[in-house]
Amino acid sequence: MADKSKCPSCGGEVTPGKVDVERRWQGRLVIIEGVPAHICRQCGETYFDGEVVMEMERLKKAVSVPGERYIQVPVRPFKVASQ
Ligand SMILES: [Zn+2]
Repeated sequence: MADKSKCPSCGGEVTPGKVDVERRWQGRLVIIEGVPAHICRQCGETYFDGEVVMEMERLKKAVSVPGERYIQVPVRPFKVASQ
């Protein structure tokens, strides 16, 4: 991304911030907290620097490292009410 101050999808103002990112690896959900990102103030789209993406991939795959803490995630299959 050449210009980090403009959102490529809507042209809104992009500011640096931190987000929590959900990733899946080997059927498991992994949440990576406090990931530095560029966040669009207009549409909420988040963008990551290349090295941040690579670090997220590394963290996602580090299954031998226990999580700092664990949360339970409800899984709900999508069903249309039959009426
Ligand atoms: Zn935007």
